[in-house]
Amino acid sequence: MCNIRIKVVLIIVGFLYNSCARAQEEIDQKIVEQIKIEAQNNSQVMDNLNYIADVFGPRITGSPQYYEAAKWAKERLQKWGLNAKLDTYENNLRGWHYESYAVQMTSPSFMTINALPYIWSNSTNGVIESEIVLIDSDDLNELKKYEGKLKGKIILSPKNESSEDIEIKPFSDHQLTKASNSILANDPEGLDNSGIEPLVDRLKERAQSKDHGEESDEDLIHNFLIEQGVEAVVTASRHGLGIVSANTLPYNAIGDIKPVAHFSIAKDQHIRLLRLIERGYSPKLRLHLNTKFNTEEKYHVNILADIEGQDPDLKNEIVMVGAHFDSNVGGTGAADNGAGSATIMEALRILKAIGIKPKRTIRIALWDGEEEGLKGSLGYIKKYVGDIVEGTVKSEQSKISVYFNMDQNGHDLRGIFTQGNTKIRPIFDAYLKPFHEYGAKTTTIQNACCTDHLGFDALGIPAFEWIYDPLYYFSHQLHVSTDVTDLVKEDSMKRNAAIVASFIYHAAMRDEMLPRK
Ligand SMILES: [Zn+2]
Repeated sequence: MCNIRIKVVLIIVGFLYNSCARAQEEIDQKIVEQIKIEAQNNSQVMDNLNYIADVFGPRITGSPQYYEAAKWAKERLQKWGLNAKLDTYENNLRGWHYESYAVQMTSPSFMTINALPYIWSNSTNGVIESEIVLIDSDDLNELKKYEGKLKGKIILSPKNESSEDIEIKPFSDHQLTKASNSILANDPEGLDNSGIEPLVDRLKERAQSKDHGEESDEDLIHNFLIEQGVEAVVTASRHGLGIVSANTLPYNAIGDIKPVAHFSIAKDQHIRLLRLIERGYSPKLRLHLNTKFNTEEKYHVNILADIEGQDPDLKNEIVMVGAHFDSNVGGTGAADNGAGSATIMEALRILKAIGIKPKRTIRIALWDGEEEGLKGSLGYIKKYVGDIVEGTVKSEQSKISVYFNMDQNGHDLRGIFTQGNTKIRPIFDAYLKPFHEYGAKTTTIQNACCTDHLGFDALGIPAFEWIYDPLYYFSHQLHVSTDVTDLVKEDSMKRNAAIVASFIYHAAMRDEMLPRK
């Protein structure tokens, strides 16, 4: 048990340590002001997003759209004076994209159906028009009852799960204060569902299941559908009226099976089909899907660019900022993660435009394949930083001072998750201070879940994700058909770019690297 006098001393020491650390953390107010003005007056953040989302559209890993967008990003960064390049990495991914698709009901009356193809679906044999067979397509025993009767057929899965009501709100002061006071990194009530299994375990498990070459239940179902000559499977979206869920089939590797065409359709239209069947009608669907599998290696690239450091002793150290540049099929991938990509590109443009001379090298990385399991960032890490599963390190592990990730953006940035790093908190508190007026003032010990900072964190590099207001992200933007530019907030993006630019700048100018856990 702690003696009361020792306790008091500890509290005083803790207080002094904290206030010293805070006092030492220098903020260059003049630079912050320049960053804010450049971000407001000369912003190119929406222009970036218009190219990424509107011109190139969804950017599925290994697709020509992804590759074209990557070349555009490289040229844009070069135009701003950065030495940008496309960087390949070790992977066994294949690419996929669709060239056209349509789903309609043709009987008992006509309806155009809001649909999205599942990623890694194979094409249909041209246009298919058929009555639907109602079967739970996740249930192999149910499917087997129809053995020999499914050739050329369209299966409709009857499952229609209601999604939970999602609150469309910014974080409240109460939520942010609670997170700020949290003492657990893996807080089950955290702002970002932080009770996650460690990345290292997940990667080991993935490697082992590949070694054994086991056939999963899902494999058995998809092989059955192919053998039986099923033309298409149609499922209901999880979201509200008119919104279509974007889904992925787990067959992204070269040599994987090509599953039969799968579509998710709007929940309200799915329910209409079920009601017609209940009334004794046999609705007919007409549909087609034309997809391409791409195995060209050059399509799998990360986009990297540096602003070189100027200090002879520190220029080999790196302050890194990253965002995944790929998307899934939902909308145009505007919020996830066109917005994150556009924002960090803008942050580097701002720093270039105001003519900073950083001590450390500043590096931007736009990642491939995040939606397929952080493939691009893990590929970079394996190439330059170390092996997460083996626990061995390469040269960059000791040189990267910090990695800031930006995924799922487009709304106000409210602070930063410190991923269990207690030493970094007073520093980030100081970095956020000039942006309290933007509502960005929270640091929390909690972890952020499930995106490209995790690989860096696993190798001991300070690696962080920001806190964003959720607003309608989970209802209207995350992996759905309405992830489009119109739902991304320009003002938020401008402010966020300024915050990111300032964090990068101060980390690059610090005497010491940022403290590790
Ligand atoms: Zn994302």
